[in-house]
Amino acid sequence: MIRRALLLALAPLVLAATPAAAQRSLLDGIAIDYVKLTLEIGEREPGYVDAYFGPPEMATAAKANPRDVKALSAAAAALTAKLTAIEPSILHPTEQRRRAYLLGQLKAAETRLAMLQGKKFKFVDEAEALFGVRPVLKPLAEYDAALAQLDKMLPGPGPLAARVAAEAGGFVIPTDKADAVMRAAIAECRARTFKHVTLPAKERFDLEFVKNQPWGGYNWFKGDTHSLIQINTDLPVTISRAIDLGCHEGYPGHHTYMSRLEEKLVNGRGWIEFSVYPLYSPQSFIAEGSANAGIKLAFPGDEQAEFEAKTLYPLAGIAPSKAVKHDAVLKALEELKGASVTIQQMYLDGEIDRAKAVELLGKYALSSPEGAAKSLDFADRYRSYVINYGLGAEMITQALEAGGADEKTRWERMVLILSEPTVPADLAR
Ligand SMILES: [Zn+2]
Repeated sequence: MIRRALLLALAPLVLAATPAAAQRSLLDGIAIDYVKLTLEIGEREPGYVDAYFGPPEMATAAKANPRDVKALSAAAAALTAKLTAIEPSILHPTEQRRRAYLLGQLKAAETRLAMLQGKKFKFVDEAEALFGVRPVLKPLAEYDAALAQLDKMLPGPGPLAARVAAEAGGFVIPTDKADAVMRAAIAECRARTFKHVTLPAKERFDLEFVKNQPWGGYNWFKGDTHSLIQINTDLPVTISRAIDLGCHEGYPGHHTYMSRLEEKLVNGRGWIEFSVYPLYSPQSFIAEGSANAGIKLAFPGDEQAEFEAKTLYPLAGIAPSKAVKHDAVLKALEELKGASVTIQQMYLDGEIDRAKAVELLGKYALSSPEGAAKSLDFADRYRSYVINYGLGAEMITQALEAGGADEKTRWERMVLILSEPTVPADLAR
């Protein structure tokens, strides 16, 4: 028995001398170069690095002496060639996934660097190269049925978008109650998530309300399982947004995802590439998709509406009796979400101008003129990034629910997505 155990214990030492181990350490070297590359691109494009919590001296070095965009392009291509030369079959399956993750991230970096040098892509080509998924966008006519249904739910004179806005006006969280409502929403998202996901005990977030941003909410992950969650109050925040934002930015969304990557991959495995998060990369497809899919995962069926009516409506000073009809309107609006992506594609590809885009967003996404302007500001700044929300959530929800999985299984699958080097292609498996 002793002898056998000894032999087994020795086996990994023997393996360590094989080429596979050398290939693994090559992967570690590429990962370090990838972090340097990403940080230096961040010096050339503000906002490119969404989060970094690796060694501070690497950020200092990137700041002090960033290569120019051309040199960074060449460096990204060289790293891709090095990675491609590693034969995946000799790697451990987890290392194979690490290799696939880095290849996708580097392809996105090369694409972004080409864009920084003036290269223009068609919307769907850009989306595929940056985020790893080629979106199929529905023509606007496919939203006519959902529009007709809403028209019946909110009868009256005037354009439907104005009737939707008037209805939503009754559900705006008063400014002086926003903090209490948001904190209660996040606490519920957190409690539901923690039944299935563990995070280090020191995990925490700060909550801030801000203005003058193109986005509705943002999670700034600071490392050490700490996030700053910002909510933009340029536009009125309606009550249903509280749970959406709490799940999306916090639990089981961005704060949870980044905390899991930090704990399991950076600290657990020593995979330094996960200490940096470049915004324009397949990582964003997983981040935004899981953050949005997490809402229904944490609040299946009617549980979101029930929690809002019971807890959030009283905190916001809104009569809970209005909740049922409002929820039905929101569900109908949900059907229209893809319309704005189609319109943003038409706008970014130059098929329509901004005025036409505002008009179409009013008609098909039922946006107010202010809401439409925000959507287009977002599109101007982040371009094809918009696919990550709807399509990302759709693909992650399908992966969670495949085979009619029960709640426990859905959460187990989500934990794996959030804790491994997940790439969009993994979701179809
Ligand atoms: Zn997000």
